[in-house]
Amino acid sequence: MKVLLLASEMVPFAKTGGLADVAGALPSALNRQGVDVTAFLPKYRCIGGGRFSLEPTGLTLSIPVGDRSVPCSIEKTLLPETAVPVYLVCCDEFFDRDGLYQDKGKDYPDNLERFTLFSRAVLEALKKLDIQPDVIHANDWQTALIPVYLKTQLAEDSFFRATKTLFTIHNLAYQGLFPKEKFPLTGLDQELFSIHGLEFYNKVNLLKGGLLFSDRLSTVSRRYSEEIQTPEYGCGLEGVLKDRREFLSGVLNGVDYQAWSPESDSLIAKNFSAKDLSGKAACKKALQKTYGLPQVPDAPLLGVISRLADQKGFDLLDEIFEDLMALSVQFVLLGTGDPKYHKRFELLAAKYPKKCGVALKFDNALAHQIEAGADLFLMPSRYEPCGLNQMYSLRYGTIPVVRATGGLADTVEDYHPKSGRGNGFVFEKANSKAFLKALRRALKVYAHQERWQSLMGHAMRMDFSWDRSAEQYLALYQSMTTA
Ligand code: ADP
Repeated sequence: MKVLLLASEMVPFAKTGGLADVAGALPSALNRQGVDVTAFLPKYRCIGGGRFSLEPTGLTLSIPVGDRSVPCSIEKTLLPETAVPVYLVCCDEFFDRDGLYQDKGKDYPDNLERFTLFSRAVLEALKKLDIQPDVIHANDWQTALIPVYLKTQLAEDSFFRATKTLFTIHNLAYQGLFPKEKFPLTGLDQELFSIHGLEFYNKVNLLKGGLLFSDRLSTVSRRYSEEIQTPEYGCGLEGVLKDRREFLSGVLNGVDYQAWSPESDSLIAKNFSAKDLSGKAACKKALQKTYGLPQVPDAPLLGVISRLADQKGFDLLDEIFEDLMALSVQFVLLGTGDPKYHKRFELLAAKYPKKCGVALKFDNALAHQIEAGADLFLMPSRYEPCGLNQMYSLRYGTIPVVRATGGLADTVEDYHPKSGRGNGFVFEKANSKAFLKALRRALKVYAHQERWQSLMGHAMRMDFSWDRSAEQYLALYQSMTTA
């Protein structure tokens, strides 16, 4: 099975979010299943400058973007610690920039040109390099044009005759929307700018192209694959998704347990395991110190690590914050994002210096320290395609309190004190009352340390490794190629 994995970011080369983690981890997990994986990436500025060992392939291309022919070349590297070749599309005019998609919070005005060039260059390079994948696995709007070209302009091309396409949606809210005047830049027949094609409320919608023209679709959790067929979560594309539901499935993302395991994590104060939890107390103490909170061992410490975005349910947290502070708890937050939340949390930290610690930055080591040191982890998301932090939290015995949506619903099961079943605390409705109720239930169990410890043990033993996800992707690829 030969698979071409296409994403616009990939750890360790370039990252703005969870997509990069997936694209960086999935290839080696697929390798372990015997899949032959190749990847392509734009050569962004952060990939050059001697940070990675790159070699030229000698291949140069001239890619049509609207009326222009844009020159680019192809370099090659390997995904570290794997034999996965990663080909880089080099075009300084489009990719030698500080950001991947934007500068100072503003999207680059030529993103359509940039990812048109990338998509066409990939297809051209495959032929020139004689790489003939059984499956092209594209991800998100940046690579959504690839299935469109394959099913339209290249439909008769014998080179791609046996190639199938899978398109994975990591977050339906990001669709790659552009003014309709830009459609000709894609080189696609103008007829495709219609309600049955890439037109969406008089704009170009690249993601919609991916949804319509791929052989199969997937999202990063089963629950999210169902939610996005409804108006509440469908971001206007629910009709398209519903029409294609028989081709849509959900495969949960995995966790890189080499990086996220309390037994071996080198970024935390003391290692611990389900068998020996004693190190967790040291991690809690160190975390309290980092945030300048009183180092009391038995006050439940609530943690949040997140993009500060409306999606993550910060309005619900804000509404219950005063109630929370009236309880005997401590709270720490790590996050960056929307300025309105920066302001709000700065205010709250100033108001409750003994109970609330706030770090408004991106800091991977501190993220690990929160996972290790907190007692509970809060994710009241309005929607959550998969979510990684709740899975990290489970491994560190940091019990998640989550809203039942997307990947949160698929990974966290509500705890029942009587049966002892469950690994966290779940609330259904996106309102602050329900959130506070779930939190109070959690705190009640926390007060019974024996019960709490057995809940922690259960949570820590759960397995969300990439191997499971890779097996499911392989089954999906196989069903496509034998269909
Ligand atoms: P999303 O992709 O929607 O942002 P996920 O939970 O899927 O949410 O993944 C977020 C990833 O980014 C996690 O690995 C999380 O630990 C990390 N992260 C988010 N904010 C920060 C931050 N301020 N500092 C360090 N890591 C962060």
